Amino acid sequence: MKIDDLLRKNNIRVTKNRKIILDKIIENNDPISAEEILEKFKKEKINMDLSTIYRNLNTLEEVNLLLKNTNTDGISYFQLNSTDHKHFISCISCGKKFIIENCPIHDIEKEIENETGFIIKGHSFEFTGICPECQKKLYK
Ligand SMILES: [Zn+2]
Ligand SMILES: [Zn+2]
Repeated sequence: MKIDDLLRKNNIRVTKNRKIILDKIIENNDPISAEEILEKFKKEKINMDLSTIYRNLNTLEEVNLLLKNTNTDGISYFQLNSTDHKHFISCISCGKKFIIENCPIHDIEKEIENETGFIIKGHSFEFTGICPECQKKLYK
């Protein structure tokens, strides 16, 4: 779907900034933070400051176009709110983050809707654990 359509479908005004931010998020494939977007813009000589990026990300998240995951380190990662969105698993020992390719709880959402009468619009969670590398160090 074209980015313009994506914005219009969500009743949100198409602006140049929103378009290039969304473009980056789609291009990146994995969830991305505002700081990472800023880094990419710098490399491409796109002039946008961090607060502008944040403001637009939050607007896009409010209309449910983006999913926001705030991780235990306080950094928020944004991704397109699609059915194949991703979650994180982070290591409580070294702090490294890994991406889980498939959302494990789509089926559960239906059950929760039935149980609560809600129409669920999203969810956010993060798994925590100990990564294979740290297991080698900790449990040898
Ligand atoms: Zn680790
Ligand atoms: Zn999910």
